[in-house]
Amino acid sequence: MDEADYAQDRIDAEISSAIAARVIYYGVSANECDVCGLLIPSARQIAVPGCQQCVQCAAVLERVR
Ligand SMILES: [Zn+2]
Repeated sequence: MDEADYAQDRIDAEISSAIAARVIYYGVSANECDVCGLLIPSARQIAVPGCQQCVQCAAVLERVR
């Protein structure tokens, strides 16, 4: 393996760990809706990993998108 291969391997490894860190970050559900501030039911937090809004606000956001 030459130096360029080694460097590419390092870059790949760093990109992979950065992506993994993002997935973990976004995989954490919020306790409170980031739109209205109401508590998000734990059932929803489990059902929708990474959710940041309550059902009502998520529905509104879906319509806007
Ligand atoms: Zn909300």
